Amino acid sequence: MPSNTRSSKATAASDVVLLTDADVRSIKRTTKKDPKQKPARKENNPPPVNTGEIIEISSDEEEPAPRNPVAATAKLQARIQQLEKENARIKKENDEIKKQQIAAADLEDQITCEVCSAKLWSPFILNCGHTFCQQDLENWFSTALKQHLNVYPHYNVNVPPANVYGIFQKLPLPPYSCPKCREKVCSRPIQNFAVKGLVRAVAGQTGETSPKKTIDATKVWSRFFPAQ
Ligand SMILES: [Zn+2]
Ligand SMILES: [Zn+2]
Repeated sequence: MPSNTRSSKATAASDVVLLTDADVRSIKRTTKKDPKQKPARKENNPPPVNTGEIIEISSDEEEPAPRNPVAATAKLQARIQQLEKENARIKKENDEIKKQQIAAADLEDQITCEVCSAKLWSPFILNCGHTFCQQDLENWFSTALKQHLNVYPHYNVNVPPANVYGIFQKLPLPPYSCPKCREKVCSRPIQNFAVKGLVRAVAGQTGETSPKKTIDATKVWSRFFPAQ
């Protein structure tokens, strides 16, 4: 048993000795030299701008050291140009995104009712050119009609004025006006199909659907305006 341990120790020791005496010293020399030389080169040749790229070039070739800064600056200049191009491209993309956002906001304004701030699902245009929700205009005209009936209790939109009084006396229309510009509204609002389609096209992209059912436009306005 002890013989075995001795032999194992001896072999182990011999192996270690063989390595440490010759190799370890040489390894130490080489390892000491390399780290010393590299920082020495770094310190002796202070790079003008970037340390990383210059070290790689100077470590390979020591003689053309004066050429390297020029090549390095050329590389950096090329890289700067690339970055400037990328910056310009990103700026263009950002500008386009901003334009699209502005256009989207403008579009959103165009399809939004100025009275109720909801989407113009059922838009009707007045003779002045302004467009509002059907329900908003109905409410607006109802108020005007009530006020008018207080002044002209015999007024009936479906009965001609001549039949009411037996003479050709024409009662005035209720003072309907545009909720925004207050221009007189003398005729039935017309369904704004362009805005209607636009609302559905925009809403369709987000999966939004019309909350209200479509109503017959002629029936909606018959209680406010006589048949034309
Ligand atoms: Zn509205
Ligand atoms: Zn108007």
